[in-house]
Amino acid sequence: MTQRRIGLLGGTFDPPHIGHLIVAVEARDQLELDEVWLVVAHTPWQKAGRVISAPERRLAMVRSATEGLEGVVASAIEFEPPGPSYTVETLERLARCRSELAPTLIMGADAAAGIETWHRSEELASLAELAVVDRPGWAVEGVRRRLSVPQLDVSSTGIRRRVADGRPIDVLCPPGVVSLVAGWGLYDGANAS
Ligand code: ATP
Ligand code: MG
Repeated sequence: MTQRRIGLLGGTFDPPHIGHLIVAVEARDQLELDEVWLVVAHTPWQKAGRVISAPERRLAMVRSATEGLEGVVASAIEFEPPGPSYTVETLERLARCRSELAPTLIMGADAAAGIETWHRSEELASLAELAVVDRPGWAVEGVRRRLSVPQLDVSSTGIRRRVADGRPIDVLCPPGVVSLVAGWGLYDGANAS
């Protein structure tokens, strides 16, 4: 059986932005993946303590952001069942239910720097290839596969602040995401962090 090579870029995506998309496109190209999935965390356990937009809204924004982008799709695998999920368990479930897929876990250098704190982190490398992308301000360390991508100093935190300050987020987020953020009134004042 030929395995399909899938990249998994997990995140909160509150909101998705050009930094996520460039990572997905570059990973797909450089690692010769069939597809990259933007895996939306339903209930991000690392981000307890701040207001996070509803999971369905974040998923809708990722669906919009990836529309028309070849080989890059939104994934709701961590919505079943809803609630907090650990990457290691998501990978185990994929191995069980979708054994035709050969997964590569893609992460920014900031996420990679904290990987030892992830649940059963030492098992991740046996369940997926690991690829780390440069991110401004973070050094990539260790022997994992490293990807060079155009460096964009863009984060969801910065975008939420811009909205709260009444500044534009065009280009930083695709037009569909800009419309959804405005329509739902996300990140204005109380919701910003
Ligand atoms: P927040 O500021 O809320 O933490 P974020 O911009 O870091 O948001 P996440 O959803 O936390 O976005 O990130 C998902 C994944 O995408 C992580 O692996 C992160 O390292 C990576 N990533 C996000 N933005 C960039 C970027 N500009 N360059 C490289 N990697 C990025
Ligand atoms: Mg982050």
